[in-house]
Amino acid sequence: MPVAQASSAPQKALEKLGLTRDIDLALHLPLRYEDETRLVKLCDAREGEPAQIEAVVTACEVVYRPRRQLMVTVDDGSDTCVLRFFSFYPSQQKALAVGQRLRIRGDLKGGFLGWQMVHPTYKPAGGELPTALTPVYPTVAGLPQAYLRKAVLGGLARADVSDTFPPGVTDTLQPLVWALREALTFLHHPTPAVSLATLEDHSHPAWQRLKAEELLAQQLSQLQSKREHDVLRAPQLAARAGGLHEQLLAALPFSLTAAQRRVGEEIARDLARAVPMHRLLQGDVGSGKTIVAALAAAIAIDAGWQCALMAPTEILAEQHFRKLIGWLEPLLAPRGLRVAWLTGSQRKKERGEMLALIESGEAALVVGTHAVIQEQVRFKRLALAIIDEQHRFGVAQRLALRAKMNEEGQTPAIGSQSEVCAQREPHLLMMSATPIPRTLAMSYYADLDVSIIDELPPGRTPVVTKLIADDRRDEVIERIRAQVALGRQVYWVCPLIEESEALDLTNATATHEALSAALPGVVVGLLHSRMPVPEKKAVMQLFTGGHMGVLVSTTVIEVGVDVPNASLMVIEHAERFGLSQLHQLRGRVGRGAAASACVLLYARGDSGKLGETARARLKAMAETADGFEIARRDLEIRGPGEFLGARQSGAPLLRFADLALDVQLLDWARQLAPLMLDRHPQLAERHLARWLGGKSEYLKA
Ligand code: ADP
Ligand code: MG
Repeated sequence: MPVAQASSAPQKALEKLGLTRDIDLALHLPLRYEDETRLVKLCDAREGEPAQIEAVVTACEVVYRPRRQLMVTVDDGSDTCVLRFFSFYPSQQKALAVGQRLRIRGDLKGGFLGWQMVHPTYKPAGGELPTALTPVYPTVAGLPQAYLRKAVLGGLARADVSDTFPPGVTDTLQPLVWALREALTFLHHPTPAVSLATLEDHSHPAWQRLKAEELLAQQLSQLQSKREHDVLRAPQLAARAGGLHEQLLAALPFSLTAAQRRVGEEIARDLARAVPMHRLLQGDVGSGKTIVAALAAAIAIDAGWQCALMAPTEILAEQHFRKLIGWLEPLLAPRGLRVAWLTGSQRKKERGEMLALIESGEAALVVGTHAVIQEQVRFKRLALAIIDEQHRFGVAQRLALRAKMNEEGQTPAIGSQSEVCAQREPHLLMMSATPIPRTLAMSYYADLDVSIIDELPPGRTPVVTKLIADDRRDEVIERIRAQVALGRQVYWVCPLIEESEALDLTNATATHEALSAALPGVVVGLLHSRMPVPEKKAVMQLFTGGHMGVLVSTTVIEVGVDVPNASLMVIEHAERFGLSQLHQLRGRVGRGAAASACVLLYARGDSGKLGETARARLKAMAETADGFEIARRDLEIRGPGEFLGARQSGAPLLRFADLALDVQLLDWARQLAPLMLDRHPQLAERHLARWLGGKSEYLKA
């Protein structure tokens, strides 16, 4: 442990980076390296490359062309070079005075006036050259590289970096020939002879070792969490012949697809077990996940328990609410049971009524936003939680759920005394339309079971996707007019520019005005992220009710919106969206019997053409309607970080390994993890503590 000092600013910055222990510092690896081991002569130097020279100052003056700057000319005997500083102190002018001999580092540019460097670093010439490459570490404001380098060196010297791999396990994997200590020492100070390319693309054996270490920690943590989960208890909910579940099936206006039946059975099997279900249900947009969820809810309700269904936004939650009421209320009413509705924006009185229904157990199903578990909601007998449009429930959320079940006054689980004593957790079903390729999901989340609906309900007309340049907008507007004249409805999606929400709004508002003007007699609505919820709801109601022809929106990222009469979707600046996002959006149309289309409007770049990758991506959209295929292509383009990374967990999961590229290492780690937990528990514990320290919670639950 570093000595506790009065926290200086850099010390605080270290903490912010999570670098609190010696081992954390030792495992903080360079982003890249600078080569300060060599000096070059200006006459041998190459344009555009970083160079280190030693030279004498021959001129130093403040000039105003065009802005105030310090201009220093140096001569290394082979050529001269101009150094420019746009901000400088008097002390610098002294250090750079005529006659000083300096060692200078910077990017060399060759203009017609000769060599130049802008804001180079410099120090007095002479002194030994370093023998190793200089590491450049990931850092934050207030933490200079020099300070960080020293801290890392110290950490590395003090930390215990002895091997935690059980003996013999690296033999099976060729690249793992380096021990951890050796790999770390090398990565922090590589010899200049090494190929920078193998360091940068992480293919070097030293990097392989670090990636194997990290993946093993991740797999151990997952497995441990799975084993902890396996001793938790949940009520056993068996589907009864003639029960609510069968009544619901019989009442549906359609029959389930084979895929829906299959995943329904997988879920029913889980519910019948005393170990809480922890299952991810994946299915493309429109594949019919909601009814599968409703059937699971029916099993729980039939067994006398309560079920909670949560959606990420109020609009989505409300859609579910309406659908589920339609399906379930007629069946629940004769049993004296109700469906309750719970959100943040609810009126106090209504909310009070709903809370009472939930507490009394009269509300068999509770639908809402995450407010359902975050607030003072007391369930009588909660047994199943369903979460829509989320790959993964956060730790805090899962613990909150667990707490809901272990609250005082809850009817204890049926079973022996010992089972009552075990920690209980509701069965958990997560649903997502953003497909994580199955192998990735299974290998990465050891503690998660995955069900996939790989079939769409029959009778869907495929959505025709067209790429159209932005300057042909008028034709698109004609098309909108024609669709609306047929009684159909249209979505117009404006892109979300992450840096500027305000700009989005301006764009969307301008588009809304332009479309309103171009389409007299058509009701054109606007929905954007900054609108208050009641207003959003009112707009959505008009659209879902068929009273609005065109909906302009920045947030049809309200994934899950279901308006079967919508037959055309226009996505502006489609080139700015991710493929999976486009696919999600496109899934909003083609939900009814009418032929549907999706227009991807793109802006031509400065060259008058769409860039090559952008074109390839949009073409992929036009070519395939299969969400999993699109996810695969997206994975190729962007890497798995987007699927599994910080966005969902709140913390970056893998720093070094790449799930798409390091498949072999991942397999190795997955096979080793159970062996290690069983046969070398102490090594496993040391390994986890070393790699995850206080962060292990992020990888669990
Ligand atoms: P998603 O998987 O995107 O959440 P939904 O559950 O919203 O999809 O279902 C999309 C639409 O398909 C809904 O209107 C739903 O009622 C309908 N649907 C679901 N299953 C079937 C089926 N087997 N046959 C016909 N229509 C179905
Ligand atoms: Mg849905």
